[in-house]
Order: sequence, then structure tokens, then C-alpha cells
Amino acid sequence: MPAPLIAIYPGSFDPLTNGHLDLIARGSLLVGQLIVAVLENTQKQPLFPVAERVEMLKQSTTSFTNVEVDSFQGLLVDYAAHRQAGVILRGIRAISDYEAELQMALLNRRMRPGIETIFLMASEQHSFLSSRMVKEIATLGGDVSSFVPAAVWKRLHVKIGR
Ligand code: ADP
Repeated sequence: MPAPLIAIYPGSFDPLTNGHLDLIARGSLLVGQLIVAVLENTQKQPLFPVAERVEMLKQSTTSFTNVEVDSFQGLLVDYAAHRQAGVILRGIRAISDYEAELQMALLNRRMRPGIETIFLMASEQHSFLSSRMVKEIATLGGDVSSFVPAAVWKRLHVKIGR
């Protein structure tokens, strides 16, 4: 029998949305262990520091027994190999996600052929959701309570001062 799969779900999660959470819930049913890994990206200017993004993810995923939250720097495939993960999980919302995701998956495969990227299609009810839109709406005073978990909503309020 093959060993249970370890999968990495990498992303910025700035902040976590219900779309990410849906992917975590569905992905966690497919693998033995799912590691949600926050990328410490030096190029993007984030709203939340990594530690806070990790904290919000932890608070929002306590009900999943096979989900772990971590953060990493450097190449995703090196981190995946270090965690002995055979799979990278990513989500696709629309055709606009596809091109960048394809490029990343092919590059990652070239660097580490043993690691497969698998994609889950976003659920219809979350397919319009992105961290960027959540931040934009919250900044403009809109109600994002139906787009993000409660732990995120609370911190967004504090951060944006509304
Ligand atoms: P990145 O900066 O790496 O794209 P994100 O946090 O924006 O990080 O997204 C991480 C992953 O989650 C990506 O594969 C993205 O396509 C996916 N994702 C983002 N929002 C949704 C959503 N609403 N439904 C499903 N997947 C999503």
C-alpha cells in the first residue's frame, strides 16, 4: 500500500478567505496530511505580517485534524522536499488563474520532477473571491463578513480601523 500523501498548500493568504478555507477542507479529504504554508514573499507588500497570517490560519483550521499551518522562505519545491511532501495543492478560479499556475507547475516539475501539482477548481460560491478584493472592499468600508472566517474579520477591523 502506498504511504499516505503529504501535500503542501502554499500561498500568500493575505488574508485567508472562505475560498482558501473551502480548498483546505476539500484538499484535506484527499491526502493524509495537508500543510498550509504561508510564503514569506519579499516582493509583495503585505497587509498582514506572516506571523499574523499564520495565526489566523491556525485559528480557522482547528477543526481539521490532518491540517498543519507553517510558513516558509525560498523555493517552494525545496520546502516541499524538506517536508517530504509529494504533492503541491493549488486552486483555480477562472481561466485567468490558469496561465500563471501552469507556468509555476511546469517550472516546479522541471526543478523537482518527483513532486506533482494538483489543482482543485474553486467552488462556484467562492470563485469570485480573492484576498486582494477582500482588502479593497474592507478598506473602502464594505462588509466582508461573508467572505472571510471570523478570526480574519476581527483582525481586518483592527487593522483597517473600522
Ligand atoms: P498566491 O499569492 O500564491 O497566489 P493566494 O493566497 O492568493 O496566494 O492563493 C493561494 C492559492 O489559493 C492559489 O492557488 C489560488 O489560486 C487559490 N485561491 C485563492 N482564492 C481562491 C478561491 N476563492 N477559491 C479557490 N482557490 C483560491
